[in-house]
Amino acid sequence: ATGVRREQLIGTDFSSYFTEPTKAQEGYLKVFEQGFVSDYPLTIRHKEGTFTDVLYNASTYKDKEGVVLGVFAAARDVTKQKRADTNLKKSLQEISGYKFALEESSIVAITNAAGIMNYVNDNFCKISKYTREELLGQDHRIVNSGYHPKEFMKDLWSKIQKGEIWRGEIKNKAKDGTLYWVDTTIVPFIDEQGKIYQFVAIRTEITAKKLLSQYVRSLIEASRDPLLVINILGQITDLNEATVNVTGKTREKLIGTDFKNYFTEPDKASKVYQEVFAKGFVVDYPLTITDHKLTDVLFNGAVYKDDKGNVQGAVIVARDITIQKRNEKELIEAKVFAELATGLAEEAKDKAESSVLVAEEAVKAKQQFLSNMSHEIRTPMNAIIGFTKVLLKTDFTAKQKEYLMAIKLSGDALIVLINDILDLAKVDAGKMTFESNPFKMLASITAMLHLFEPKINEKNLELVRTYDQRIPEVLMGDPVRLHQIILNLVSNAVKFTTHGQISVSVKLLSEDEEKVTLCFNVSDTGIGIPESQVMKIFENFQQASSGTARLYGGTGLGLAICKQLVETQGGTIQVVSKVGEGSSFIFTLSFKKTTEVAEFETIEEPLDPEGKNIKVLVVEDMALNQLLMKTILDDFGFERDIAANGRIAIEKLEAKSYDIVLMDLQMPEMNGFEATDYIRNVMNSKIPIIALTADVTTVDLAKCKAVGMNDYIAKPVDEKLLYNKIVSLVKKPSAVKFEKSIAAYPEDKLKIINLAHLSHRTKSNPVLMMQMISAYLEQTPTLISSMKQSFRDKDWKLLNASVHKMIPSFSIMGMSTDFERLARKIQEYSATQQQEDGISDMVLQLETICTQACRELEIEFHSIKNTHNDKGQD
Ligand code: ADP
Repeated sequence: ATGVRREQLIGTDFSSYFTEPTKAQEGYLKVFEQGFVSDYPLTIRHKEGTFTDVLYNASTYKDKEGVVLGVFAAARDVTKQKRADTNLKKSLQEISGYKFALEESSIVAITNAAGIMNYVNDNFCKISKYTREELLGQDHRIVNSGYHPKEFMKDLWSKIQKGEIWRGEIKNKAKDGTLYWVDTTIVPFIDEQGKIYQFVAIRTEITAKKLLSQYVRSLIEASRDPLLVINILGQITDLNEATVNVTGKTREKLIGTDFKNYFTEPDKASKVYQEVFAKGFVVDYPLTITDHKLTDVLFNGAVYKDDKGNVQGAVIVARDITIQKRNEKELIEAKVFAELATGLAEEAKDKAESSVLVAEEAVKAKQQFLSNMSHEIRTPMNAIIGFTKVLLKTDFTAKQKEYLMAIKLSGDALIVLINDILDLAKVDAGKMTFESNPFKMLASITAMLHLFEPKINEKNLELVRTYDQRIPEVLMGDPVRLHQIILNLVSNAVKFTTHGQISVSVKLLSEDEEKVTLCFNVSDTGIGIPESQVMKIFENFQQASSGTARLYGGTGLGLAICKQLVETQGGTIQVVSKVGEGSSFIFTLSFKKTTEVAEFETIEEPLDPEGKNIKVLVVEDMALNQLLMKTILDDFGFERDIAANGRIAIEKLEAKSYDIVLMDLQMPEMNGFEATDYIRNVMNSKIPIIALTADVTTVDLAKCKAVGMNDYIAKPVDEKLLYNKIVSLVKKPSAVKFEKSIAAYPEDKLKIINLAHLSHRTKSNPVLMMQMISAYLEQTPTLISSMKQSFRDKDWKLLNASVHKMIPSFSIMGMSTDFERLARKIQEYSATQQQEDGISDMVLQLETICTQACRELEIEFHSIKNTHNDKGQD
């Protein structure tokens, strides 16, 4: 522009190249004053006289101490400006817009057109950590960090190549690798030919600011909720990624647009920023974003201000409450359902309660009905069975007997069922009562088990009994109920077992001062119970399988009753069973100890484990009776031999060993009495002998006892009674059952004496009675011995006299006229001395009778005496 060469220009006065040197001088001073001038118009004078209108932009540059070193002055050729391309024009215009005054901190570098540095100021050296020597002559890219993308650098380069000023933020790298941010302005310098001859780069360090803005950005981005910055016009000036996501629009598209456009209700939305700017904040302002999901949000925001407190804009955060809203809805729904369900449940409960009441009433009514009905049915049923039994004893045709038998069997079955039902009804109604009486446990169980022996023998099963000897003999309890339980279990065991054994054991579980707890176990080797049914069988009317009733009969009540009987007495019952192997029913019960004597004993035979191997000799002459006895004994499972008379019996007894003899009395050749006498006195055998008497007269009984028989049984024999007698005698052969049997006889037949007569005669005067009895007791033994002695001596007179003296007392003591007749017979015989043999028997009989009478009278005497004394004391 000056036409003066570079070398010449430098060092010359700046103002001398202008048409108005003063104005140039002033501008120069202005730069020093202000630090800069912009678009300062001057006209350069060319040495050849041409003028160039320029606009100067200039600023000072200073050293470290702030001393102004000089002025940068960039002149824009306004003349050429007209020819300059639009880009350049624009850039020059832009230059005027920037106030890029050089400041103390400015980092300045100047490169040639190729980018080789030929000037760097101290700041440049300082920040880049290179020495000036290292920098000058180097490519400006020495400080490039490689951070910016290629496009960015290309764009920058092409811009300044075109002569445009570039401004932007660049990350540079120092010699030691530290990175720093600089705000950079690169100004291209163009010569007269329009060629760029140098670039001036003025930088300001902005690392701290950059960091801060990164910090702010990360703060903004940290929010997962949409965050927006809006200016006071409501335009979006910044936003975060979450906003991009929720609106589905890019950052660029959003910035500068109206905030309210993104909501379903724009008017309402505009109120958000109106409110923010009016109040300074907004809290939980609800809006719905017009995204595809129509996200519900709550807006919270606050204004931000500049240093002077002027509001610059507002930061607003939107909280997505879609999930919260959904949860709320679900919660409400859940609550409604819950309330509904509660209502239903309460209704159901009410219904259930009322049905329970109805059911309880029904159960009570049922129990009452069952109880009444069973009782009502039982009474006539007993009559039916009783009379059927009576009828069965009379003569009928075979057909009629069969029908009667059917009636009896049905009756028996029915009465069992009725009793069961009655028991259950009683238990259910809590009316089941239990006795507490002293009883002999062992004797009681043994007696009961005897009842099963025929059945067990018939099925060819073995009955094994175990009894714990430590159990006290007498215990307090209810033997009848205990029988009922064992009876039920044993009859099931027998019913469901075809081979093997039934075992009954009683063990002492525990004992203390007051009571014992016993464990009863009834086991069998029968069909067993399927596991699935084990719990069921204790329920009313439950059988293990539907076929049980058809195959084995029964109603399924037995075990239910057992369970009730055991549990109401405080015991437990359980079953262990395996199909095909057998079952064990185990129950426990406690019994109180006692020092009392057992009141009443049913049958007192001991347990007999070898019951079925009993060998019996039957002495009987009548073929029909022989057959009957055979059948019965076979039924019992006993071995038996038959002897037609006493003589044959003795032969058999001599040849073979037997356990017991059943002896008929009237037989040819040798009768029962004679045979027994022989067995006892000649053979010296203690084998038990039971008399079979056709007609039980006291004479016969006394005679039987006299010859040493152990017991008797009347014909036709009662099978059960016979069985018990046989078993008990085989077990205790020495026991003489006679007295007991006689004692167990009905009052009038049992006793030889009957004091009714005496009492009548004495008008029940005890003293007189006692005097009479003691007189009898004094005279009789003497009379007996003289009778026996005279018979042996064949002193018929004395015999006659002795017997004669006895006769009057017979009627006084209420003895049977049979005895009187017997005595008279002896008198007769002795008088005639005929039938000497017969007399022997009669003397023996009379002796027995009178001895027995004495024994009885002794007892009576004491009892009268005791009663009399008691009364006397009263
Ligand atoms: P009932 O014998 O009259 O059918 P219970 O109550 O005595 O009734 O017995 C119920 C069921 O339990 C029987 O029907 C049978 O299926 C089963 N049960 C009882 N005891 C035995 C046993 N010892 N062995 C096999 N099954 C048994």
